[in-house]
Amino acid sequence: MATPPRPGFPARIDMGKTSPALGGRPVPRRPATPGSLPSAPASVTEGVGTAISARDPIPARARMVQQLAEGGVRDTQVLRAMGAVDRHRFVDSALVPQAYEDTALPIGLGQTISKPSVVARMVELLMQGGLRGADGRLGRVLDIGTGCGYQAVVLGQLASEVYSIERLRDLHEKARANLRPLRIANVHLILGDGMAGFAKGAPYAGIIAAAGGDAIPDAWIEQLAYGGRLVAPIAHGPGQQALMVVDRSRQGVQQTILEAVNFVPLKSGVA
Ligand code: SAH
Repeated sequence: MATPPRPGFPARIDMGKTSPALGGRPVPRRPATPGSLPSAPASVTEGVGTAISARDPIPARARMVQQLAEGGVRDTQVLRAMGAVDRHRFVDSALVPQAYEDTALPIGLGQTISKPSVVARMVELLMQGGLRGADGRLGRVLDIGTGCGYQAVVLGQLASEVYSIERLRDLHEKARANLRPLRIANVHLILGDGMAGFAKGAPYAGIIAAAGGDAIPDAWIEQLAYGGRLVAPIAHGPGQQALMVVDRSRQGVQQTILEAVNFVPLKSGVA
C-alpha cells in the first residue's frame, strides 16, 4: 500500500541540516548505535527543565516529553525515546497538527495509535521488568499490534531487538512504509496473528500488547523469559479494560492489575 510522504512538523520550521531519514531531526554528530535514532536533547536526561523545548527542533514534541515527565514518567531512557521519534510521521497528513497532543489518533481500518502517555506508561512498566542489560536496554521484545509502527520504533530505542506483529495486512504494509525511510535495523515487522506470539524470537525480555482480550494467551507467557515482563490490556469487568503486568520467574507468574485503559480488541487470524 503506497503511503504519501508526511509533511514536516510544522511545515514552515527551518530544520537546518537534517537527516532525510528523520525529517525534522538534525544529523547526529556521533554515530548512532545500531537501530537507534539520534538521541533526544541532553536536558531530558538531566531532569525536565524548560530547556527541552529550546533544544528540540520540534517544540511540540519537546512539550509532549515535558508533559510526560510531569505526568509521572520517570525513566529518562523512556523520555529520551519518546523525544527521539517523529510521531507526526506515523499519522495521516491531516492529523499532523495533533501528532504531539496526548490523544489517540485513527490510523485506518478502525484502529488507533495509542496516546503518548499510554505508550510511555506501558513502555516504562516494561522497562521496570528487570531484564535490562548493563546499558539499561532490554533484550528482545515482542510488540503485539504493530498498527502504524510508532510504538515499535519507540521500543527499538530501548531494546536490542523488537519483533512487532500485526494481523491486518494493510496496517502491516503501512508500518513497513513508515519504517522504511528510518532504516532501523533492530525492528522486525511480522504479518501474523499475535495471539500465538512469535515463537522464533522467544524467549522475550518483554512482551507488550496494544490490543486487549479476555485473557492473556498462554503462548505469551510461554514465550516470556524467566525474569521477563509482559504488559497488556485485559478485560476487567463488563465493557472495561485494565492494564495487566505479568512477571515470570522460575517460581511461576505474578499478575498485577493496574489502571483502567481503553484499547482496541485483540482479534484472532490474519485479515
Ligand atoms: N502500537 C500501535 C497501536 C495499534 S492499535 C501503534 O503504535 O500504532 C492495535 C493493533 O493491534 C491494531 O492494529 C490491531 O489490528 C492489532 N491487533 C489486534 N489483534 C491482533 C492480533 N491477534 N495480532 C496482531 N495484531 C493484532
